[in-house]
Amino acid sequence: MRKIERIFVHCTASNQNWGTKELWAEFKAKGWKQPGYHYVVTADGGVHQMLAVEEVSNGVKGYNSTAINVAYVGGIERPNKKIVAVDNRTPAQKATLRKLLGILHKKYPAARIMGHRSIWGEDNPKKWEKSCPCFNAVEEYKDI
Ligand SMILES: [Zn+2]
Repeated sequence: MRKIERIFVHCTASNQNWGTKELWAEFKAKGWKQPGYHYVVTADGGVHQMLAVEEVSNGVKGYNSTAINVAYVGGIERPNKKIVAVDNRTPAQKATLRKLLGILHKKYPAARIMGHRSIWGEDNPKKWEKSCPCFNAVEEYKDI
């Protein structure tokens, strides 16, 4: 069994209508053999498993061997052709994420739930190399 120390929350930084097919195409285009996430939550609130938890996904460089990576589809908008990072989770995605994280944390109670950007600290946005998942996951899920 893998030792799970962290459960990372991500956004896919993609169009919000994407599903696993589009995500797989993107990962393959990057030359990745493993997907970026174990679980993906689509805009309709559906959960899609892309990889068994015992396998290592490609979510946070340097942390993957002890991590489970979970993502919601979305996280960007394109006003005036610019790309802006934004928490655009649908109510269905919010509900499913909370439920999924609850299930995972029950199975791995020693694991910390955090956002991708949380590895650089939630208190200092200047240190974030990425804004993913575009909200403070440590704060939002501290009760789980
Ligand atoms: Zn991420």
